Amino acid sequence: MTFNAYAAKKAKAQLEPFRYEPKPLADDEVEIAISHCGICHSDVHLVDGEWGDWFPLVPGHEIVGTVVTGGAFAPGERVGVGWQRNSCGECEYCRAGEEVLCAKHEATCQGNFGGFADRIRVNERFAFRIPDGMPSETAAPLLCGGITVYTPLRTYAAKGSRVGVIGIGGLGHLALQFAKALGCEVTAFSRVAGKEADARRFGADHFFTGGPEKGSFDLVLNTAHAAPDMEAYLGALRPRGVFCQLGAAPLPLVVPSMPLITGSRSVAGSAIGSPAGIREMLALAAERGIAAMIELAPMREANQALDRTRRNQARYRMVLAK
Ligand SMILES: [Zn+2]
Ligand SMILES: [Zn+2]
Repeated sequence: MTFNAYAAKKAKAQLEPFRYEPKPLADDEVEIAISHCGICHSDVHLVDGEWGDWFPLVPGHEIVGTVVTGGAFAPGERVGVGWQRNSCGECEYCRAGEEVLCAKHEATCQGNFGGFADRIRVNERFAFRIPDGMPSETAAPLLCGGITVYTPLRTYAAKGSRVGVIGIGGLGHLALQFAKALGCEVTAFSRVAGKEADARRFGADHFFTGGPEKGSFDLVLNTAHAAPDMEAYLGALRPRGVFCQLGAAPLPLVVPSMPLITGSRSVAGSAIGSPAGIREMLALAAERGIAAMIELAPMREANQALDRTRRNQARYRMVLAK
């Protein structure tokens, strides 16, 4: 049994066809025939060697496909897999349903071969049924991008909250949709004036190309990679408001102390979400028609697609199809 994939052999190298023999299927694993895989900025960071030497590297962690065999699933069921492929299942975090915090967390495509492939095997606890009627290609980006924005919205916001979203890209365009679906008043911040119409369609009530005016946000999500003007954004939070960093910014966030301490404001980080959160997010997306806006490309054009993500050219998520 060999799986066919696309792999980078070293940092910044082009992906090349790659065959590998998977480890034997464990009792608690499911084998999935991949039909679609989204491209996340984390894939670009990995391919470019910015997160260390994980080569040969098969990127891809926004996977949708059908079950071949294994686990609690019936063959042919449509399932998705995100950034996490396993956890210990026994530690305090796993027992509390916070598997993402497990010290034995296993990533789908960092240290394992990911979703730019025809098949994958993962622990059954990290494969999620895709709701009927939800297209596979627009579901794929929900598995990482969707849950990444959904978790902090559910943690720090509620109906009626004022939510700001910095950056209208792969994460941002989903954040606007989920924030709207949760009943928030939504403000989009983008440096690109041409994204206003899209942002409003995704659910933004307000759109700014500059920083925030004096505001009263309960939550600001930074989905952008650039470090923002923290003085301005912290100043725009109401007391006890939260600034949550989601993009992997290469430069440190410089946090001024006065707006932080005077309003008991917080700067937080958040990564993906729990299996329960992923199920809840998928159900809400199905109910409210939330979908990634995507550009579809065949998997053999993975290099060009990866490059569109690298250059922030995707509108708004690249998805590879078998
Ligand atoms: Zn991702
Ligand atoms: Zn654990």
